[in-house]
Amino acid sequence: MRLQDPDGTLTDMALDAGTRLGFRLAAKGKHCLGHHTVHGPADRDHVLCPARAAATKGSQCEQCFVLDDSRLIHDFHRGGRVPPGLRAYLMQPHWLYVATFATGASKVGTASDLRKWNRLAEQGAVVARYIARAGDGRVVRILEDMITRDAGLPQQVRAAAKAAALVAPAAAVELDAVNRRLAGEARTLLAGAGGEGFEVVDERWARPELAANACAPAARHAYPHDLGTGAHGFRVDSLSGSIALAVLDGSELEFVVNLGQLKARMIELGDHGSDVPAVQEALF
Ligand SMILES: [Zn+2]
Repeated sequence: MRLQDPDGTLTDMALDAGTRLGFRLAAKGKHCLGHHTVHGPADRDHVLCPARAAATKGSQCEQCFVLDDSRLIHDFHRGGRVPPGLRAYLMQPHWLYVATFATGASKVGTASDLRKWNRLAEQGAVVARYIARAGDGRVVRILEDMITRDAGLPQQVRAAAKAAALVAPAAAVELDAVNRRLAGEARTLLAGAGGEGFEVVDERWARPELAANACAPAARHAYPHDLGTGAHGFRVDSLSGSIALAVLDGSELEFVVNLGQLKARMIELGDHGSDVPAVQEALF
């Protein structure tokens, strides 16, 4: 979790199994996180929002949204113009993958070579397979669009759906079968597509150990409180992308908390605890 202090200093806070996280919301709404300027494959600047403005476009203000280089990534393969640094980033090798989430919902996606593994960890995939390695970020997005068009695989699974799925994950063997079948179908399409600049691959993604508990079938509950207001505190037991499996004080019940909802929120860390809701154990 990356925190930005009032003076602009950025601090990384490690979330691990057993980490206690307590905070209260210090202001209403969301505040702009600034923008990124890309200089090359591994070189980018995070420019803070000069106005510390309210976020009106996701987690950015209008001005930072317009300045953000990543806005241009999605049109590059359709001939969109990009600045030289972003072009250098996009011209590195990229991977095409099929990721499956906890209820079997699946997507096709891309990762730059340097972020091959991290990208899927951030997405909170339960099972994933790389299906192609492309010479650059233009080719990989053309392939991605083709898989969406011809295999019907979407390019996005919403965070809310991922969190809801983790309340009752399907069996690992089932999810692996779904992913293997969809990846196989996509590979067949790629092999028949012809064209240059990529090779079909069959490589399974290794899920982080910290996500194992979150992805395992178990009886648990959706976190009942709104992360946009009030005080919260719990022990993180497992983490799948930005979704945590949390245990509240005074209860051994597990709750699924979408920590992504904290993005661009103003919080103050402290010794807080979430209220334990009345839960119908009889359901299980
Ligand atoms: Zn801004």
